[in-house]
Amino acid sequence: MNLDKKLSTLKYTPDENSHLKPTQEDCVSCKTRSCINACPAGVYEWLENENKLLVKYENCLECGACRIICAKHSLNWEYPKGTKGVTFKKG
Ligand code: SF4
Ligand code: SF4
Repeated sequence: MNLDKKLSTLKYTPDENSHLKPTQEDCVSCKTRSCINACPAGVYEWLENENKLLVKYENCLECGACRIICAKHSLNWEYPKGTKGVTFKKG
């Protein structure tokens, strides 16, 4: 089963505000952008033209890997509020 199929087994209730807040000034000068490769859900993408980190927080699995691996220790991370966020239906 590929990643897209696995992710399709989950239910998401997105908040209107992101619970993942990278410090964009740090992302610009970040040498590794390790959050991009660490995220199993493909939440992060570097936008070369805009010189900023795109955060597709609606797809977050709340694993916490990006918070731990952030090269600048400056990614503000919290759980989505209340009943928002991911629900694991299987596994
Ligand atoms: S690792 Fe941290 S500082 Fe680097 S791009 Fe990701 S969030 Fe930004
Ligand atoms: S908490 Fe996990 S799934 Fe969510 S953005 Fe960070 S690495 Fe990706």
